[in-house]
This record gives sequence, structure tokens and C-alpha cells, in this order.
Amino acid sequence: MTCHKEDTKNCFVLEGKMALPNQFFVGRTGSKFIIAMRDKKKIMGLKCKKCNMVFIPPREYCIHCLSKIDENWVDLGNEGELVNYTIVRYQDKHLPKKAPYILGQIKLQGADTPLTHIVTGIDPSEVKVGMKVKAVFAEKTTSTLMDLDHFEPA
Ligand SMILES: [Zn+2]
Repeated sequence: MTCHKEDTKNCFVLEGKMALPNQFFVGRTGSKFIIAMRDKKKIMGLKCKKCNMVFIPPREYCIHCLSKIDENWVDLGNEGELVNYTIVRYQDKHLPKKAPYILGQIKLQGADTPLTHIVTGIDPSEVKVGMKVKAVFAEKTTSTLMDLDHFEPA
């Protein structure tokens, strides 16, 4: 059967063109988070004192009780545990690294939410949930989340 796009009963044609260059303002909280990484090599989270939970990436309001927590910064240190991961196997120009690479969720010590970032220094076939990892900062700043270059086995 030949499909013509005028035949809307039997044929559905989806035409598309996508280009998604974009930028967004990371806000006051996101800026403080990036500046701490860039200037002090520190990974900071925000703590809700009422719920006793630390969020990273930092958020202005607690997701549970909605309290404003944007002044309760805590230093999370540079080490944590890999709590989940995936292996990126496709190549695309928007990706930060050449595939294959490990994209992990790292729960830093003292944090209650994981930070998603690149994990290197281990073969993708060897990576395991529960591994201890540490942050490695970029030598050259870009004033982005990539000032934290990657995590590697601790
Ligand atoms: Zn709370």
C-alpha cells in the first residue's frame, strides 16, 4: 500500500524539523551552586531543617513541606555512592562526552537526593550500583555544571 499524506484515514504523516538551541537562567540558587564548584571546588546542597533532608541539585523550596530553604547551604563533600546508572551508547553532538560513557546517579554523603553526572575511570562492563565514587573538578572553568568534570571510583 502506498501511503499519501492526503489519505488521513489510513495514513498518518508527521512532519517535523527540530532545532533546540537554548539557554536558561539557572537562577540565584543554581548560580550559587555553580559558583561554589567553580571557586571553592565544593558541592553544596540545600537543607530543609524541618524535614531534615538535603537536596541536590539545590532547590529553593523543600519538595515535601514547601518551606523556603534557600539559605540553608550545606557542604556535601566530594564523595558518594553510585545509586543508579545507565550507559550512553549512542553518539550525538549535544552529548558532553564521546559514547560509550556511564551516566550515573551519585548520592553524596549527607545528601538525600542523587546528582546525575558522568562516571569515568571504570569500564562500563565493570560498573556497579553501590560503588564509592569521588568528584573530580575540571581544570578549566566553564561556569556550568561541567566545572564538576566527572566522578570516578574512590
Ligand atoms: Zn521540608
